[in-house]
Amino acid sequence: MKLLLHSCCAYCAAYTADFWGRQGWEVTAFWYNPNIHPFREHQLRLEAMLTLAQKRALPLMVDEGYEVIDYFKAIRVVDKVRCQGCFRVRLGRTAQRARQRGFSAFTTTLFLSPYQKHKLLRLTGERIAEEEGIPFLHNDLRSGYRESHRLGHELHLYHQTYCGCVYSEWERYCPIERPKKLKTSPREGGLK
Ligand code: SF4
Repeated sequence: MKLLLHSCCAYCAAYTADFWGRQGWEVTAFWYNPNIHPFREHQLRLEAMLTLAQKRALPLMVDEGYEVIDYFKAIRVVDKVRCQGCFRVRLGRTAQRARQRGFSAFTTTLFLSPYQKHKLLRLTGERIAEEEGIPFLHNDLRSGYRESHRLGHELHLYHQTYCGCVYSEWERYCPIERPKKLKTSPREGGLK
């Protein structure tokens, strides 16, 4: 019962690895996140992941490289569907590695976040599971989000302030007030 756990960040990985471990799975965390921009932010989150793996004796596989150009080609459209391309890139690689290395199943820490599109995430994972011929595990872990923060603080791990891509950073920090006062959203043309 070996599970490959795609890990978006150390905070989510700490809680989610514990959760699946309690269900009887032998968990290995997997790092592949070319969606994290800029590169220095990617490195900060990866370092936090390495620290977590060392502190918790959590097996960790890191996919070498930072394939950001392939990532941008995969998401292409800057709209609601960009997350689908993003999930596909990251879960697709996770499923491939899980199959190649003899894991029984794969899943992702993204199910812990209340900010992710859960239905889209589950459907994308299930489709990839069919394509790659390896089971995908789904469990709604959002109720553990607060606890994951407590754990992350306790372990003194770096914590990000936006999802990952440059678009999410822009949406998080763009000073333009959001739709109530604007007829168009920043994405639709508020930035002139
Ligand atoms: S908002 Fe998050 S999940 Fe969506 S495309 Fe950006 S990094 Fe990926």
